[in-house]
Amino acid sequence: MTELERQQWDVVVVGAGGAGLRAAIEARERGARTAVICKSLFGKAHTVMAEGGIAASMANVNSHDNWQVHFRDTMRGGKFLNQWRMAELHAQEAPDRVWELETWGALFDRTKDGKISQRNFGGHEYPRLAHVGDRTGLELIRTLQQKIVALQQEDKREFGDYEARLKVFQECTVTRVLKEQGSKDGDRVSGAFCYERESGRFFVLEAPAVVLATGGIGKSFKVTSNSWEYTGDGHALALLAGAPLINMEFVQFHPTGMVWPPSVKGILVTESVRGDGGVLRNSDGKRFMFDYIPDVFKEKYAETEAEGDRWYEDPDNNRRPPELLPRDEVARAINSEVKAGRGSPHGGVFLDVSTRMPAEVIKRRLPSMYHQFKELADVDITAEAMEVGPTCHYVMGGIAVDSDTASAVGVPGLFAAGEVAGGMHGSNRLGGNSLSDLLVFGRRAGLHAAEYSAGLAGERPLIDEVQIDAAAAEALRPFSAESPEPGAAPENPYTLHQELQQTMNDLVGIIRREAEMAQALKKLGDLRARARRAGVEGHRQFNPGWHLALDLRNMLLVSECIARSALERTESRGGHTREDFPTMEREWRRINLLCRLADRALAFGLGDSGGPAPTDPVRGQIDLARKTTEPIRHDLLALFEKEELVKYLAEEELYE
Ligand code: FAD
Repeated sequence: MTELERQQWDVVVVGAGGAGLRAAIEARERGARTAVICKSLFGKAHTVMAEGGIAASMANVNSHDNWQVHFRDTMRGGKFLNQWRMAELHAQEAPDRVWELETWGALFDRTKDGKISQRNFGGHEYPRLAHVGDRTGLELIRTLQQKIVALQQEDKREFGDYEARLKVFQECTVTRVLKEQGSKDGDRVSGAFCYERESGRFFVLEAPAVVLATGGIGKSFKVTSNSWEYTGDGHALALLAGAPLINMEFVQFHPTGMVWPPSVKGILVTESVRGDGGVLRNSDGKRFMFDYIPDVFKEKYAETEAEGDRWYEDPDNNRRPPELLPRDEVARAINSEVKAGRGSPHGGVFLDVSTRMPAEVIKRRLPSMYHQFKELADVDITAEAMEVGPTCHYVMGGIAVDSDTASAVGVPGLFAAGEVAGGMHGSNRLGGNSLSDLLVFGRRAGLHAAEYSAGLAGERPLIDEVQIDAAAAEALRPFSAESPEPGAAPENPYTLHQELQQTMNDLVGIIRREAEMAQALKKLGDLRARARRAGVEGHRQFNPGWHLALDLRNMLLVSECIARSALERTESRGGHTREDFPTMEREWRRINLLCRLADRALAFGLGDSGGPAPTDPVRGQIDLARKTTEPIRHDLLALFEKEELVKYLAEEELYE
């Protein structure tokens, strides 16, 4: 039996970004003793990087906006593959979540008449993004942290201990969700196995409810706007605990990342640049987006530059410019221009605000972008165009959850919210809809996790010591890894990571082909076998190579899900573009792809998780199944014109 520290909590929230903090606040306010654990410093979650804003139909800038319009835009953006109940709840509850933030101290930019200001973004019919310059995520995190501190101060007054009912474990990683084996409720959650990154010390948080709020997967790709934490941990933790992932083929490539200099390639250039009037041009100086308006959006976008420009001043009588099409459309268009030889010197296209706004307005509305380009690329965006190109940004696929309760399918006690959860955004997320998603479903996850935990009435799940031993052995394996060649060094985790990123970028990237994805799966099989021999030197203290060796398991699992699902879906839709199947097929609208762990030897209790690689490299670790979605409720369908529905829904759905 492994000796380690154990603590008991009612709810454990993994992740301290927007989703995790909102979940923790709700759980604590509902009376649950709540622990938050995050692998970065408290405050340095991905959410802090969010720039443009939070989408919510508060109708502060255009009074025609309401939740129904927001719902429609979200469904259109996701090409109707969204879990519609999530899209409904999200559109209905987002305004309350923003106003609530304000009551907790958030300082949003204001309109002239003193309301929370809202800005335009791609795919949103009206100005809808509540924002704080281009640093909205920072304000969101600051406010949620302030709320947490306020709750802790309450506990200090009541119990004499700040951490009596809400404690943050920062710079600690969860490597396994633990489960009670053979319980009458079917392997319910019993806690989390964790380690301190600084010291390498293992510990266990025992809890009947675990909320996964770990964010995305971008670090599996070479060019990404995501930071080091995005290694798909929550996705993998859920798979290993027995929950399915849904629609993992949908990965969002944001159209505008920096392309130069090489050291900053992939860093995000916020969509606010286009929302505030920035235009895209190719090397001929042409505003090429007018050539890329797809049929499904033809009636909603301007046909001429003059009309597009008029829209900024008079949106009620003009159509929006095509630079504000949903992200998948813009990213594909940029890709095509570069491929056709009309790209910028460093392989992107030009994004220009300098000819569209006075310098002082640019500096006021886009201060971070101004500094980012000045400091990283020595480009003054008030005087010259930026060079931009697609970058892996967001994953629409994620843990399959119940729409209302955020509970993970099939694993009692497991919940998921934020980017790690799937379904809400369908095949493509609209900008601004992530921050609102974090708040709406973070709150719901916290609420239902607290209720679930309280409902057990003292019958807490038992901890399985075998799982703790196995988790400890798994985490220590990189220190004793051996090369198959006597005397040779074990595999280097950094080399494996680089090869993985290159594979995903080249073979499962923005434009996909059958043969390349098959090749990717083979390569992933090879990398998986090598990753089991990934070794590190030294000891557990301050050892980033060790952390990466552990993260590789997660990135490989998630990458296989993406490649396998992308190969299966023989159509192009949202964040999944097949060169060999270039059109969106109505028959595919109702089909979700579910990934489950096939190699049960990786799950606890069913084999030796520390043994030799049990998988056939081509067969892999993931089982894929098709699942038909529930029909969209009639009152929600009635929000759309019939002519529009005909473009998306399958024949039998229209008939129904
Ligand atoms: P995060 O905020 O990333 O939090 C994840 C947390 O999980 C972190 O605390 C991390 O340390 C922790 N964690 C991960 N793995 C583990 C583990 N194994 N153990 C313990 N802890 C773990 N969206 C918008 O809506 N509007 C915008 O304007 C916008 N701008 C963006 C700009 C940039 C540059 C980027 C990259 C994204 C932007 N997005 C935007 C997207 C949005 O920021 C993210 O989707 C969102 O913040 C994800 O929040 P989250 O709470 O799910 O995860």
